[in-house]
Amino acid sequence: MTGPLDVVIVGGGTAGWMSAAGLVGVLKPDQCRVRLVESDEIGTVGVGEATLPQMREFNDLIGIVESDMMRKTNATFKIGIEFRDWGFKGSNYVHPFGAHGKAMGGVAFHHQWVRAGQQSRVADIGEYSYAIEACRKNRFDFPVDDPEAINSTYNYAYHFDASLYARYLRGWCEARGLTRIEGKVNDVALDPQSGDVASITLESGERITADLFIDCSGFRGLIIGQALNVPFEDWTRWLPCDRALAVPTERSEDFAPYTRSTALEAGWQWRIPLQHRTGNGYVYSSAFISDDEAMTRLLGNLDGKPLAEPRPIRFKSGRRTASWTKNCIAIGLASGFLEPLESTSIYLTQVAILNLLKLFPRSRIDPALAERFNRVVDNEYDRVRDFLILHYHATSRTDSELWRHCREMDIPDTLRDRMALFEHRGHIAQYRDGLFSPPSWLSVFVGQGMRPTGYHPMADNLPLETVTAGLEAIRRRVSERVEAMPMHDAFVRDYCAAADMVPA
Ligand SMILES: Cc1cc2nc3c(=O)[nH]c(=O)nc-3n(C[C@H](O)[C@H](O)[C@H](O)COP(=O)(O)OP(=O)(O)OC[C@H]3O[C@@H](n4cnc5c(N)ncnc54)[C@H](O)[C@@H]3O)c2cc1C
Repeated sequence: MTGPLDVVIVGGGTAGWMSAAGLVGVLKPDQCRVRLVESDEIGTVGVGEATLPQMREFNDLIGIVESDMMRKTNATFKIGIEFRDWGFKGSNYVHPFGAHGKAMGGVAFHHQWVRAGQQSRVADIGEYSYAIEACRKNRFDFPVDDPEAINSTYNYAYHFDASLYARYLRGWCEARGLTRIEGKVNDVALDPQSGDVASITLESGERITADLFIDCSGFRGLIIGQALNVPFEDWTRWLPCDRALAVPTERSEDFAPYTRSTALEAGWQWRIPLQHRTGNGYVYSSAFISDDEAMTRLLGNLDGKPLAEPRPIRFKSGRRTASWTKNCIAIGLASGFLEPLESTSIYLTQVAILNLLKLFPRSRIDPALAERFNRVVDNEYDRVRDFLILHYHATSRTDSELWRHCREMDIPDTLRDRMALFEHRGHIAQYRDGLFSPPSWLSVFVGQGMRPTGYHPMADNLPLETVTAGLEAIRRRVSERVEAMPMHDAFVRDYCAAADMVPA
């Protein structure tokens, strides 16, 4: 080995600082030297308050103390997403970070639920899910480590102030020797022979060379798009929302351990409770509503006093055709974006970082590494895309142009096949890699109003009475155990207060 690989990260948003923390936290200084360039003048996109449970693995990997991080980012816990008015106006379901019920007779729980439901009345599927019931009652506690216990069947994530999280990681990285360079990148030079990125030049005239450039410059894709011309695959035909208005409001009494997503005429509105305020936003399609109308709609729907003017953001759902090209890896918004309905952006950033760590080059960048990286990242994006489209397409809403369009639009074959398998036999294939396991798909399929016409034949191996008694026992156990959980607001307050006692 010739020395550490010289890595320069361009961008200091969530993606830039997570990438820096991943590299600095896992690799040794003789394997990798990391510098990060960012421009205070340009700033960050400044939204992104909801996360997925996988984020805890990232924090654990680099050794972040949870209670300390939560206190410094005004975080709360999140165990699911509530979808209001998505299947039809007046409908309400939760996509939980957890399972529904328990396998019975060798088949997944929902086969027995479908079978019993075809013979007699069964409760809503949410009543068999510990995480959903906890959401419904605004309660939170940590899952236990006993696989037999009903309160081990869920997972949790955070709502937080993403800019404070980036700042937290910055402090963490700088304490470990990372060099931060303040400056605006004005120029990217390519090597005329290889086409690799040779250097970046700052407004000050400083020229910076590196072996590997990580483009975390946000939607502008400064290196991956502007310099390397890697195309962006646009998925607006399936995910029509392309704008958002974000506005914080005063903290409200409704301190829920879940994100709320309410479907509106031309998109949907988010509501995210943090310790000190509530985050709100309207994600909408400019093809179906004007910016002024969207603003009026958002402001009319808030349940607290606004703390600032709503901030407009434009975006496009899609991804780069090759996030790792030559000696540049795009991570975060520079690599792609899927609208925030299932809070997947930070997760996709994390996937890219963990894959980079797995495939980290020694001194020479072998194209096979890039190929493997791109295959994994593309797969993840494609699967999240299908999951998001499902929410829009499987609806019986016909009350506005957007919903009529989404019901009728053509969808990817991969999603069409998944929907058909579920409708026919309740089958939900487990991805080998990739986000969203069968319980997630189940909650959205059922929540959006789909019901399978059949179920796995093995479900018939158990007498129906055994199944109905088993369902009722699970429902009762969930309800009793959830009643014993602490309230979410009290739990957050006590847990973060305890952080004062944790050594930094
Ligand atoms: C409406 C909306 C809601 C969202 N909600 C969620 C959510 O709930 N959960 C979730 O996981 N994600 C969410 N996201 C995505 C999330 O905001 C981003 O994934 C996250 O903020 C990472 O952004 P980034 O770091 O890639 O880009 P940015 O935050 O845009 O950072 C770009 C960085 O590049 C720097 N830069 C740019 N150009 C230059 C230059 N020329 N020279 C030097 N520096 C430069 C900037 O200074 C900045 O530091 C949401 C996004 C949107 C649009």
